[in-house]
Amino acid sequence: MQSYSLFAPAKINLHLEIIGHRADGYHELVMIMQSVNLGDKIHLRANGTDNIRLYCQNPEVPLDNSNLAYKAVTLMQEKFPKAARNFGGVDITIEKNIPVSAGLAGGSTNGAGVLVGINLMWSLGLTQPELRDLASLLGSDVPFCISGGTSIATGRGEEIEPLSDLTDIWVILAKYSNLGVSTPWAYNAYRQQYEQFYVSDGKEVKSRTHQVHSGELVKAITNKDSKAIGRLLYNDLEKVVLPEYPAVSELITAFRNENVLGAMMSGSGPTVFALCTTEQEATSIAQKVQNSINDPNLNCWVAQMCPHGIITIED
Ligand code: ATP
Repeated sequence: MQSYSLFAPAKINLHLEIIGHRADGYHELVMIMQSVNLGDKIHLRANGTDNIRLYCQNPEVPLDNSNLAYKAVTLMQEKFPKAARNFGGVDITIEKNIPVSAGLAGGSTNGAGVLVGINLMWSLGLTQPELRDLASLLGSDVPFCISGGTSIATGRGEEIEPLSDLTDIWVILAKYSNLGVSTPWAYNAYRQQYEQFYVSDGKEVKSRTHQVHSGELVKAITNKDSKAIGRLLYNDLEKVVLPEYPAVSELITAFRNENVLGAMMSGSGPTVFALCTTEQEATSIAQKVQNSINDPNLNCWVAQMCPHGIITIED
């Protein structure tokens, strides 16, 4: 086929723990990642030229070669030059629903979507593990975005191990449109304050990772125990982001004061998420918090945990 449309879900982190330094300059992480059904639509079309052309109506999204969707096509052209010559350039249209610079892996899931789409369009027959290997060349969150669902991600985030699917939990996502947190800033700030606690010995790193694998949150996920999942949410980056952005901290408190299962910052923020047992409850709590904070910059979305990453959709 000459064109494909894909749905690219956002992610939240149910657990984000920074363990130490890596030789490649990244942080050693152990995370539990979860896809949610708030996502972007990506349309790919062979354009009969040699060019990659990118379209997106959201002005915050770069339309040049810094866009992860663009980088994904370039990567595929480098790895599969013969197919690239046969099929020529690509038009990519991104319908952006995921807020930008929000800690929801918006750019990463677009990159993942393009890898999956090009694999189909060029009939390359790459498997999910092969796609995830390519994805790790684009960024740490991209491999998870390929397969999605519920997973433990280790290393710099690129080593993915699936956990049992969660679907019966509703997620309120809340973000101030006038707030963005730079991911590199958050990790650097964490390094400056907590480097003395970093673990570098391979054995210790493995043991910390193992603690999460055999820990309470993974048990709660396996047992689909929503209450325990809400209670056990954890994010190291809150330690540096919340003091710097008190509005984010107040937003978490506002959700915790309602009848939610748990509330936390996602990734490096500033998006806050709150977990609820029903859609109705999520919608009414989102409304209540919006009314009480009464700031026109505060946006809320209600989504559901979803068991997949990139999927193809009808045009
Ligand atoms: P992560 O959670 O992976 O750190 P994020 O959700 O915090 O990412 P993004 O929405 O990916 O943040 O945006 C971060 C930066 O990436 C933006 O400032 C934007 O310039 C750039 N970017 C590159 N490609 C895209 C894309 N396809 N969509 C959105 N932003 C993109």
